[in-house]
Amino acid sequence: MFTSIATVSLSGVLEDKLGAIARAGFDGVEIFENDLITSPNAPEVIGRMIRDHGLVCTVYQPFRDFEGMPDAIRQRTFDRAERKFDTMQALGTDLVLVCSSVSAAASGDRERIVADLQELGERATARGLRIGYEALAWGRHVNDHRDAWDIVRAVAHPAVGLILDSFHSLVRDVPTMSISGIDPAKIFLVQLADAPRLDMDLLSWSRHFRNLPGQGDLPVVDYFAALERIGYRGPMSLEIFNDRFRTGSTNQIAIDGYRSLRWLEDAAARRNGEARLPPPVQPTAVEFIEFAADEEEGGALAEMLEALGFRLAGRHRHKSVQWWKQGEINIVINSETEGFAHSHNIVHGASVCAIGLSVGDPEEALERAAALRMGRFQQAVSPGDMEIPSLRSVGGTLLYLVPQGREAAIWEAEFVPVAPPEPFADAGLKRIDHIAYSMAYEEFLSWQLFFVSLMASRKTPQLEIADPQGLVESQAIESEDRKVRFTLNGSSSQRTLSARFLRGYVGAGVQHIAFETDDIFATAARLRERGLLQLDIPQNYYEDREAQFGLDADLLSRLEEGGILYDRDADGEYFQLYSRAFAKTFFFEVVQRRSYEGYGASNAPVRLAAQARFKDETVF
Ligand code: MG
Ligand code: MG
Repeated sequence: MFTSIATVSLSGVLEDKLGAIARAGFDGVEIFENDLITSPNAPEVIGRMIRDHGLVCTVYQPFRDFEGMPDAIRQRTFDRAERKFDTMQALGTDLVLVCSSVSAAASGDRERIVADLQELGERATARGLRIGYEALAWGRHVNDHRDAWDIVRAVAHPAVGLILDSFHSLVRDVPTMSISGIDPAKIFLVQLADAPRLDMDLLSWSRHFRNLPGQGDLPVVDYFAALERIGYRGPMSLEIFNDRFRTGSTNQIAIDGYRSLRWLEDAAARRNGEARLPPPVQPTAVEFIEFAADEEEGGALAEMLEALGFRLAGRHRHKSVQWWKQGEINIVINSETEGFAHSHNIVHGASVCAIGLSVGDPEEALERAAALRMGRFQQAVSPGDMEIPSLRSVGGTLLYLVPQGREAAIWEAEFVPVAPPEPFADAGLKRIDHIAYSMAYEEFLSWQLFFVSLMASRKTPQLEIADPQGLVESQAIESEDRKVRFTLNGSSSQRTLSARFLRGYVGAGVQHIAFETDDIFATAARLRERGLLQLDIPQNYYEDREAQFGLDADLLSRLEEGGILYDRDADGEYFQLYSRAFAKTFFFEVVQRRSYEGYGASNAPVRLAAQARFKDETVF
């Protein structure tokens, strides 16, 4: 695959964008006119820079409002084209993108459009250049790639071909099947973009909300797979207009772009019964969660875990590391004074520094991650300790890839078991239900793509959740069997709980962990006995729930007594309760699901408001 990206997709100035695009591993770059005209460098100099970076200039774009112009303007339009050709030759590209006209003056007369493109083709040929014709979704007369293809066929000029853009086709629901009728040799360029499903005018949707393949809701995999099937082997170029990308990190978005293309190519190949990368990782469980905490914080955290019904299951053979256990849940508290956890603790304070996922083949997972340009983490391993491979994940936390089936052996090799106290009764927590990350709004799509491209997963629709001090964008990424669930929360306001977390914590990280119980009422009673400080839920909430769901008096009083939140959908019921926050940075949740697969979004504002009331108070 020849990978390319349009300069408009990235933040920064043109010269910086070129460097980031080259470093990310792209083969080519589309020069967007605006980036060129705002540069102090002449087109020849930019052309040289592109080549010095080892890149190819894929296309110069756009050339607007060309075809079907009235006679009075027609000559002027061809003069403009000749000037574009000069710039293209200086840049060192042979292809210009002509997008279908939006001008009120343009005629929809097919013969005229065809004649205009034929003449442009002649003029281009004289200079050794080519014309790519693209149907804009909001084009005045041509707004469907099937029309653009009919026109290109009618033009029948070797220098005039078609440019396809997934956004323009997919937002208009142009059937992807129609690609099968296109001659691949006549497709000069394919532009790729995804987007969230929004109900808005096409131009604003395109200019502000496009995103990278995998980040949105459009069927881009089907689209790419159809291009593969007809044998298109030309450039695959990202063209993303997104306000968030314009404020994001140039380098990160370039890497994300490269990652999304590699992911897309593989996902499309798999749809066609082939593969381009090792298979998507299928995690079977969250095997452990590791906290970095100094001795004092570690003691307080251990107390909180005890209140949650955990027991100390083991001590590391030679490190200051504890293993806490309940049901299938393993929590590690790492209080070492050197190594990764210690560095993490210095920056973030007591917090989750790593998550261990059980996976079938860690080596294969590492190969996929490397192909997707994910960072591997390695540190010295003490003799006798197992080396578990890990990737750098959200906010610098680690994602360990634990070989499935070897979990027990690893605990045994590294920890001296501690017998449970007699008598001991836990709180009925069985397994980890979900892990919730908080991050800045600008990073949200990056980490979403990280998980989506690494794992065989599905993502829930993005939700906006009301915090008392701003909106939080929230989306879950779930493994196919839902044994592993992550929720990502991005805050655009500086004052939401998520944003305060980011400031207090210094960056993105795990904000809460939800444990699953099979009996929330029994668990709530045990947690009360054990002295867990819970988040208080206001009486008004219960009255609202009663009104909304017609709950019976007995259930309602049990919910109230346990400080339990309730949700219901067409499929089932959800129960949730929350601990108070630890060191103002993270907290725990307990959930019970009865055939319910959501996350209680309607309860989130109540939780956030309740937490806002405690924001100046430290519990542990
Ligand atoms: Mg386009
Ligand atoms: Mg939750």
